[in-house]
Amino acid sequence: MKIVVCIKQVPDTQKVKIDEKTGVMIRDGIESKMNPFDLYALETALKIKEKLNAKITVITMGPPNAKAVIQEAFALGVDEGYLMTDRKFAGADVLATSYTLSEGIKVIDGGYDLIICGKQTTDGDTAQVGPAIAEHLGIPHVSWVTKIIDASNDDITFVEDMLDDIAQAKMAYPCLITVDKDISQPRLPSYRLKKQASDKQIKIITLADLSDQDPDNYGLSGSPTQVERIFEPSSEHKVERYEQDAETNAFKIYQKLVELKYVEDQK
Ligand code: FAD
Repeated sequence: MKIVVCIKQVPDTQKVKIDEKTGVMIRDGIESKMNPFDLYALETALKIKEKLNAKITVITMGPPNAKAVIQEAFALGVDEGYLMTDRKFAGADVLATSYTLSEGIKVIDGGYDLIICGKQTTDGDTAQVGPAIAEHLGIPHVSWVTKIIDASNDDITFVEDMLDDIAQAKMAYPCLITVDKDISQPRLPSYRLKKQASDKQIKIITLADLSDQDPDNYGLSGSPTQVERIFEPSSEHKVERYEQDAETNAFKIYQKLVELKYVEDQK
C-alpha cells in the first residue's frame, strides 16, 4: 500500500501583504509553516500506515526552503519526501500547480495507490488543487472527507461532507481524497523520529525529471489565470451605541437587524 500526501509551505501569518504593483506576495521577513490542512492529510495517512504498514511519501512544490515541511513530515513518521523545485515552476496558478504536481507524482518511486491532499490552503485558499491533480492523472477523487471508516489494500471507505448532504462511499485505488479538519487530531512531531530523519535524503524533482518537459506547461507560462489587480480589501468599522432603557435598546437593535436584512420584519 503506497500513499502520497501533498503538502504545501504557507506563510505563518494571517496578514499576507501583496505588492500591488507586481501582484506578488511579499514573503520577505515572513516565517513559513506547513499548511494546517495538510497536517490532517498526514495524520490520515499515518493512521492508515499503522493499520496496513503502508509507505507514505510526501511531495511539495515550492522554493528550496520548502524542504522544511518535508523534514517536519519526516518527524511525524513519513517515509520519503520529494521537493519539486525549478525556476520554471514559479508563478504557477491552480492549473499549472496541479499539473506540475501530477507530473511529479508520476515519477515517484513505486507509484501510488492513494493520494491525500488537504481540503485547502491558508494562502491560495482555492481548494481546487487536489481534484485538479486527480483529473490530470485520470483517477477518481472525492473532496471534503471528514471520516475514514475503513481502509484496506484495495479500497477506502469514508464519509464526505457536502454541506447540504453527508455521504458514505467506497472508492477503489488508485484514487485521491481531500480531507477536512474534522477527520482527526494531528499528532505532534516525535523527537526520536526527528533525530532519525536528520540524515534522510529529500529527493529533488526539476523540469528535467518529468516526462513532459515543455516549459510552456509549467509556472507562469502554463498559467491561464491573469491577475489584473490585487489589493487588500478596505475594512470599515462603524459603531452605533444605544444607551436608553433595555426595551428601547432591544427594539433599536431589532430595527437595525431588519435594516441590515439579518432578520425579517415581523410586523
Ligand atoms: P488549494 O487548492 O487550496 O490546496 C489544496 C491542497 O492541495 C493542499 O492542502 C495541498 O494538499 C495541495 N497543494 C496545494 N498546493 C500545493 C503545493 N505547492 N505543493 C504540494 N501540495 C499542494 N503562489 C506562489 O506561491 N507564488 C507565485 O508566484 C504565485 N503566482 C501566481 C500567479 C497567478 C496568476 C495565480 C492565479 C496564482 C499564483 N500563486 C502563486 C498562487 C498559486 O496559484 C496557488 O497557491 C496554488 O495554485 C495552490 O493553490 P491553493 O493554494 O489555492 O491550493
